[in-house]
Amino acid sequence: MSVSVRDYIRTIVDFPKDGILFRDVTTLFADARGFRMAVDQLLHPYAGQRIDKVVGLEARGFILGGAVAHQLGTGFVPVRKKGKLPGTTIAQDYTLEYGEAVVEVHDDALAPGQRVLLVDDLLATGGTAEAGIRLIERLGAEVVGCAFVVDLPDLGGRKRLEALGMDVHALCD
Ligand code: IMP
Repeated sequence: MSVSVRDYIRTIVDFPKDGILFRDVTTLFADARGFRMAVDQLLHPYAGQRIDKVVGLEARGFILGGAVAHQLGTGFVPVRKKGKLPGTTIAQDYTLEYGEAVVEVHDDALAPGQRVLLVDDLLATGGTAEAGIRLIERLGAEVVGCAFVVDLPDLGGRKRLEALGMDVHALCD
């Protein structure tokens, strides 16, 4: 039987708090074959398209997005939590299960008309990805696709992003 990306992901019970099943992709990243498979599959639908930048969401989106950008021959742009980027930024707030969070991007990181692939490890409610999409679009760039290793369909992220007109690509549910 052939090995799939799913086989490299482990589940940690009660992390970061009781009742949560945390999907841990560090075991995928640590395996040479698994990591290559994940990066190749993430970029596969977009390989024939014009992509100008890959945007990765902090923090595991940096690991995947950097590798995807290298493979596609594009630059990489980080979307970071508030207060981490040194230059002038624009900020986007979004709602978490409990409370609010803010992500930022450098205001000169993307140019109008640029075609962007958004990358993160996991899609849950879609709040984080939507905040990233809003930042990209506020800079005038276009999101060509949103690529994730894991989609948790019960949490509605895919539907939320598709309602924004996004192409959502996930390697496993
Ligand atoms: P969302 O905003 O609800 O879609 O949550 C997605 C964000 O939370 C992503 O940046 C993920 O890295 C992180 N996240 C949520 N649950 C998990 C998990 O089980 N494993 C890894 N990351 C998670």
